[in-house]
Amino acid sequence: MVVDVAVIGSGFGGLGAAIRLKETGVTNVAIFERASDLGGTWRDNIYPGCRCDVASNLYSFSFAPNPAWTNTYSYQPEIWRYLQNVADQFHLRELIRYDHDVLDVSFDGPSKTWRLTTSQGDYYARCVILATGGLAEPRLPDIAGLSLFQGPIMHTAQWNDAIDLRDQRVGVIGTGASAIQTVPQIAPLVRTLEVFQRTPSWILPHLGRPVIERTKQIFTTLPFSQRLVRAWGYWRRELMVLGFVKDPSRLTKAETMSRDHLERQIKDESLRGRLTPRYRLGCKRVLISNDFYPAFNRDNVTLVTEGIESIEAKGVRTVDGELHEFDVLIAATGFYVTDNPMATQVHGAKGEELADAFLGDLANYKGTTFPDFPNFFMLGGPNTALGHSSIIFMLESQLNYVTKAVRVALDDNALIEPKAHIAARWTHELQAKLPGTVWDTGCSSWYLNDAGLNTTIWPDFTFKFRSATRHFNPRDHQISTSKESEVS
Ligand code: NAP
Repeated sequence: MVVDVAVIGSGFGGLGAAIRLKETGVTNVAIFERASDLGGTWRDNIYPGCRCDVASNLYSFSFAPNPAWTNTYSYQPEIWRYLQNVADQFHLRELIRYDHDVLDVSFDGPSKTWRLTTSQGDYYARCVILATGGLAEPRLPDIAGLSLFQGPIMHTAQWNDAIDLRDQRVGVIGTGASAIQTVPQIAPLVRTLEVFQRTPSWILPHLGRPVIERTKQIFTTLPFSQRLVRAWGYWRRELMVLGFVKDPSRLTKAETMSRDHLERQIKDESLRGRLTPRYRLGCKRVLISNDFYPAFNRDNVTLVTEGIESIEAKGVRTVDGELHEFDVLIAATGFYVTDNPMATQVHGAKGEELADAFLGDLANYKGTTFPDFPNFFMLGGPNTALGHSSIIFMLESQLNYVTKAVRVALDDNALIEPKAHIAARWTHELQAKLPGTVWDTGCSSWYLNDAGLNTTIWPDFTFKFRSATRHFNPRDHQISTSKESEVS
């Protein structure tokens, strides 16, 4: 079967795309979802304590505010429920094909459509919107002997509630965003908890708090008030760009705030030293938490900073020769981002892999389209992720461009792709902004690919991205009609 638009993924990006397409009158849309429910990362990450570190009012669609958020920074169950409600409100459920794992997406020259090979057969689409997200493929640590461990190993993004942690000896590998949320939650349950830290994170105080009923009533009766709070949060976050991008020395104040936070919460000087980051704040994602550091003041929790040498049947051996024995191992070790396997499954008109865009070998236009990938759009594409604000703002920006381009492609029966030299210029100019930013100050992070190239972060104010993606500019594109005549 041929659909007008195949959307791959039913998280914020995929649902947002379907809503915006409907708005522009495009209804022959199929959303392919590999799982049996919608929600993407907010369906999958059910580890205890999972929460968004962007404020609820900003971490939601601008066109679907939720006056009922119960916390200023929402926990996973509420965000997932929000997505379910959005799907109902905009009648999206009937568009979703659950349990359809998309295995390959290739441009089919003869039919001038995209062929989607799925776990449930082939589909064809005139346009494809890839909305599988950057944080979708859990990465287990590349440590020798991982498979030898005799107990369960759980990645935070593949949490298994059936594994009872009560009174168990548990090891957590990693101290990033997922670890700092789950460690304080599981610490009181387990017998012992050892947290393996390779690099300490910068952690700032968490300002989240429950939302009182009065506020919810005001948001409900005066929707403008919630928009104001959202705008206030948005602009405060934009100020961080001044430090991250323009002048990292401005981050000294935030570093002092983080060190003070650590000092208030950890009295043991040696422990504090081991938890103190030695790189510029912002180089890795800045974290917020009030309960991660205090977890180490518990008698049953230990911070391990010796490097991991290997994993054995009984536990983790560190480079000092010690064997740390566990019943359960938790890998809070992040995701395949610049090397997301999904990108190796997408092939353009000349057979190129989308993955090349994250290696720096394939130019992109506005992080969304690629030469020789006609009528193909990627949400959360190269250099559209953020270290300081809401990804939903970026997705909505991309959708302004995408929906307009899709409309032209369908109305004119055209194939649209960015002109090669325009995409090359966009990519070059974007990369030229990265030297001197905080992400370039010498740390390893998931923002960088193996060659050290930053192909994930948008290095500027987000309103500039909004402005760049506001319109579909035909002059920047090669537009071929069915007669194969280039019209622009
Ligand atoms: P992450 O930030 O990539 O952290 C992975 C952690 O595992 C790091 O501490 C890393 O150490 C460590 N690690 C990886 N491989 C290791 C190995 N072989 N040996 C020892 N340690 C190893 O992953 P994450 O915590 O899952 O977070 C990923 C992203 O998801 C976040 O940055 C954020 O964007 C998103 N997230 C957001 C929230 C939220 O509140 N919105 C919550 C969770 C996740 P190194 O630092 O030394 O590499």
